[in-house]
Amino acid sequence: MLGAMQDWDLVVTHLIDHAAREYGEREHITYWADGTETRTTWAGVRHDAKRMTQALRAAGVRKGDRIATLAMNHSRHLVTWYGAVGVGGVLHTINPRLFDDQLEYIVTHAEDRVLLYDAAFQPIVDRMRDRWPCVETYVCFDSGDHAPAFEDWIGAHDGDTEWEKVDERDPCMLCYTSGTTGNPKGVLYEHRSTMLHAMAGVQPNLFDADSRTVVLPVVPMFHAASWGLPWAGTIPGIKFVYSQVNDPKVLCGLMDREQVTHSAGVPTVWLAMFNYLDSVGKDVRDVGKLRRAIIGGSAAPKFMIERLMKNGVSVAHAWGMTETSPIGTTGSPPANWDELSFDEQVALVMKQGRPAFGVELRCVDLDDHTKVLPRDGKSSGALQVRGPWVIKRYFKAEEDAVDSDQWFDTGDVAVIHPDGTLQLTDRTKDVIKSGGEWISSVELENAAVGHPAIAEAAAIGIPHPKWDERPILVCVAKPDMIVRAEEVLDHLRDKVAKWWMPDAVEFVDEIPHTGTGKISKKDLRERFRDYVLEKVE
Ligand code: ADP
Repeated sequence: MLGAMQDWDLVVTHLIDHAAREYGEREHITYWADGTETRTTWAGVRHDAKRMTQALRAAGVRKGDRIATLAMNHSRHLVTWYGAVGVGGVLHTINPRLFDDQLEYIVTHAEDRVLLYDAAFQPIVDRMRDRWPCVETYVCFDSGDHAPAFEDWIGAHDGDTEWEKVDERDPCMLCYTSGTTGNPKGVLYEHRSTMLHAMAGVQPNLFDADSRTVVLPVVPMFHAASWGLPWAGTIPGIKFVYSQVNDPKVLCGLMDREQVTHSAGVPTVWLAMFNYLDSVGKDVRDVGKLRRAIIGGSAAPKFMIERLMKNGVSVAHAWGMTETSPIGTTGSPPANWDELSFDEQVALVMKQGRPAFGVELRCVDLDDHTKVLPRDGKSSGALQVRGPWVIKRYFKAEEDAVDSDQWFDTGDVAVIHPDGTLQLTDRTKDVIKSGGEWISSVELENAAVGHPAIAEAAAIGIPHPKWDERPILVCVAKPDMIVRAEEVLDHLRDKVAKWWMPDAVEFVDEIPHTGTGKISKKDLRERFRDYVLEKVE
C-alpha cells in the first residue's frame, strides 16, 4: 500500500521559489573589488536566475551539462547557483587557488561547457584557455573586456520561463576535493541530498538561522558548497552580506554597518579579523551584532573560541568534508551547558561537536578497519560516516566509495565520547605508528604552536628500524624570533606522553600548503624523504 500524500520532488529550485515568494523583498548586499556596492533581493535573485536559465539554453546548454564558476562571494555568483540548476544543469564551483595542473584536470574531468569568472581571475582564464577545450562559453561576472559581462549576457532575456523538469535524484552540483593525495575527486550532489542538507542546516543546532539572520559568509562559495549556505539561506529568508574581497577591514566594516548576526569561515579567517581588530583597538563585540560564529575546515584553536565566547558569540565548531555536503557535526550546547564553567564550555567547543540528524558516525579499528570501537572517549580509530547527504561514489568512478553497509571512510582519525561528541585526533595518512601504537600528529602540532616563538608546526613520521616510525617536528619560527630545538622539546615535555616526544625538531622557512590552505603533509614527507635520524635506538 502506498501513502496518500502529494508528489513534491525535493528539487532545489523549490528553495528559490519559496524565498522569492515568502521573502521577496529581503535584501542582499555585495561589496565589489572596485569598492562599489550593489543590492538585490530574493525576488531579484530568482528573476536573474530565470534570465540566466534562458541565456544558458540559448548557449545550447542542456540538462545534465556542467556549468563552472571561478569566483569569490557575490550576488551574481548566488544567481548562478540557481540559474545553473534551473536549466537542469550541474553547478561546478572551482577553487581558484588550485594549481594549474589541478585546474586542467578538474575542468576536463567535469567536462564543463560554460565558465563564469571574476575579472580578478582573468589571468587564470588566459593561461588555461587552451588547456580547457571543453569550455565553449566564457562569461565575466564583473566586466566584459574579454568575455560577455554577466549583466549583459542575462540582460538579453526577460525571465519568463519555466525551470527545467528534473528528478530529485538528478545531480545539481559538483565539487572537487582538493586532493591532498592523487588527483582531485569529484563529489556529485543531487537535488534530494542538497535539499535535505539545506533543511538540516538551518536548525538551531547548526546555523541557527531565522528570518532576522544576517549572514556574512567568509567561507568562499567554492569551498565545499559554501557549507550549503546559498541553499539553506532561502528557507528562513536570511539576508546575505557578501564581499568579493577578503580584507578584514572591509569585512568588519560591513559587519558593523549591516548589523551582521552570523558568520562562517575557516580558523585563519577569524585570526585575520582578530589581528585587524587589535590594530584598531577594538574587539568582536564592537562590530555589529555577531552572535554566532561557525568555524570549520580545520580545528578551531582554544584562544579563538575563548575570545569569541568572551565577546558573547556562540561558537559552532563544525566538522565536515566535501564528501558530506559538508555538514557532519557541530558543537551545539548539550543539555547541561548552563551548569558548565566557562573553561568546561570552551573545552567542549574545542571538540568537533555532535552529529546533525541525518548523519551517523562510528570509529573502527585503525589496523583492520572493521572492528567497531566503543564510544568511550578513549578508543581512537578511523572515522566513518553515512547518511543521505554523504557520498556514495566519486564522479565517474567505477566503484562505490562506501562498504556494503554504506559506511564511508573519512580518512580522519577520531574518538567518540559517550555523549556522542566527536573529537578529531588526526588524518589516517598522517598518524604516526611507533612500536605498534599510534601517535597523533595533530596533538603534537597543537602543543608545539603553544610555544610563543612558533608560528606553525607539522609532525611527520620518519622510518625507524626498531619502532617502525618515529615523529619529527618541522617548525616555522615567528618573524624575528629565534628558538632552538631543545627549547621546543622542553616546552613539549609536560604536554605529551614521553614516547610521543619528537626524535628531532627541524626549522624551515615555510611549510607547504594545499590549495585550500591546509598543511600538505604529502609534500612535507616528500621533502624529508631521505631524512636520517641522528640517533637510532
Ligand atoms: P579537502 O580535503 O579537499 O581540503 P575538505 O574541505 O572537504 O577538503 O576537508 C575535509 C577535512 O577537513 C576533514 O576530513 C577533516 O580532516 C578536516 N576538518 C574539517 N573540519 C574540521 C574541524 N572542525 N576540525 C578539524 N579538522 C577538520
